[in-house]
Amino acid sequence: MWRGISVFAVLCAALLVGGSDVSAQTPQATPAAPRDAKTFVDAAEQRLLKLWVDTSRADWVRSTYITGDTEALAAKANERSISAAVAYAKDATKYESAKTDSDTARKLKLLRLSLTLATPHDPDEAAEVTRIAAGMEGTYGKGKYCRAEGQCLDLEDITKIMATSRDAKELLDVWTGWHAIARPMKKDFVRYVELANKGARELGFADAGAMWRSKYDMPPDAFAKELDRLWEQVRPLYVSLHAYVRWKLREKYGDAVPASGPIPAHLLGNMWAQTWDNVYPLVAPKDADPGYDLTRILKGRKTDAVGMVKYGEGFFTSLGFDPLPKTFWERSMLTKPKDREVVCHASAWDVDYVDDLRIKMCIDITAEDFTTVHHELGHNFYQRAYKAQPPLFRDSANDGFHEAIGDTIALSVTPEYLVKLGLLDRAPDATKDTGLLLAKALEKVAFLPFGLMIDQWRWRVFAGEITPAQYNKAWWDLRLKYQGVAPAVARTEEDFDPGAKYHVPANVPYTRYFLADILQFQFHRALAKTAGCTSALNRCSIYGNKKAGERLEKTLAMGQSRPWPDALESLTGQREMDASAIRDYFAPLQKWLDEQNKGKPVGW
Ligand SMILES: [Zn+2]
Repeated sequence: MWRGISVFAVLCAALLVGGSDVSAQTPQATPAAPRDAKTFVDAAEQRLLKLWVDTSRADWVRSTYITGDTEALAAKANERSISAAVAYAKDATKYESAKTDSDTARKLKLLRLSLTLATPHDPDEAAEVTRIAAGMEGTYGKGKYCRAEGQCLDLEDITKIMATSRDAKELLDVWTGWHAIARPMKKDFVRYVELANKGARELGFADAGAMWRSKYDMPPDAFAKELDRLWEQVRPLYVSLHAYVRWKLREKYGDAVPASGPIPAHLLGNMWAQTWDNVYPLVAPKDADPGYDLTRILKGRKTDAVGMVKYGEGFFTSLGFDPLPKTFWERSMLTKPKDREVVCHASAWDVDYVDDLRIKMCIDITAEDFTTVHHELGHNFYQRAYKAQPPLFRDSANDGFHEAIGDTIALSVTPEYLVKLGLLDRAPDATKDTGLLLAKALEKVAFLPFGLMIDQWRWRVFAGEITPAQYNKAWWDLRLKYQGVAPAVARTEEDFDPGAKYHVPANVPYTRYFLADILQFQFHRALAKTAGCTSALNRCSIYGNKKAGERLEKTLAMGQSRPWPDALESLTGQREMDASAIRDYFAPLQKWLDEQNKGKPVGW
């Protein structure tokens, strides 16, 4: 699913401008004479579609061949798209009170809300902010930590060390080295915040963060409250997991891990401590070995990158979806090229917004990437399912849905599924569930507070509540509050640790991942029920179930044509997001954790 560098992106690049870009000519081309709202919208989305495709192509080349030239070309395409989108967004406000059909009204709203980066009207400032955005992402993509002359590590190398090294000194060294790549971004980031806010204000939003929060078919404040409600539902589970992992890590690393305070951020197996599954061997219960190792099985069978993706495709065809188009196999980037810089961060693309599906990924033959492939393809099959919608509705019900669908599919990667694929002879019995659930919780439950805090930080930065003089301190305050982690070396405002996380320099909103983490369990519970699965939720796979596939397909095909509660209802029968599903899934684990934690400090 989504850990580490290779997992998170997912169609993020395609959504960099929010799925809505317009033409450079638009500001001039929009006639001053009042026009019928529907005529305006129809013209806008046809024009937008052309620009999105141009931008996708430029972004694809930039992401798979990073040079000064491809960065400049992508920046240019993005700038054209964004400035035109801004113009359409502004024009859309003129029709707000127009009497029109419900589809047109929704499209007008989407036009106004679809940007993640609204460039200011001033062309020089528009060019500046898009150049800064492309430059920061490029700095991240090219980031390296050089331990010594000629010994430079990129994020791929460092990710492996973070995942596998148990040498606290080495872990801290690469952690510190990677975070240093973000220092030069701070000045640019300050300017980007100024300009992004200026653009958002020109569209009538209080700031860029308020613009991001307005996208959820409810008032921005109500949405923020929904997040609080969901977090409160799941927090007890996180706190139990945190307490257990802390004392197990203390057994391993001694006083480097405090008995009752925050966990040092470099010891959790991931650069951002966002998922902890890599420290599973350190915290595993006795007799938890499920009796198989998927990485070893895949390597033993000499599975290559194409083979990995074929497994993922097979999952979807088993549900009744059509196979991937021939062009997918010709155009995707599945392995890391040896001769050039690329953005390895996994992502799924639909370059022509119809059938030109691709994934961009540096696939390793591991259990983790096996799951990631299923996740990325979830995006691709979603994209193709809504291709018949008008251009402005070709997106997920809300941005959490896109991520959640990929992960819902990944939750069906169960031992029973591996048996059906012939990768495993038989599934482990229920006595292995504690281990399986703990491994999953280290990924899914550990992620929740991180998924929430990134935008808590950015929203407050955009709102001016966190000033550049406190960027780094505020970042760590929030990480302490939500995650209960702390840096093991002193940080100062010379550091810019938020920039060491992809989505910050890349201008990708992050709340979607928190929502996805909650929603995927809600989706999984509903689809498992549709498929008639009566075993424990963690052993249900919808693989091969046409009825679940039909229900899924029907929801995906809606795209963004209806407010997200309609799509949620279509898939689950519920109109509200509900974290009780993730609590249900992990209920046996919570009980076990609380037994283990008896007499030990809980909280930080
Ligand atoms: Zn994704």
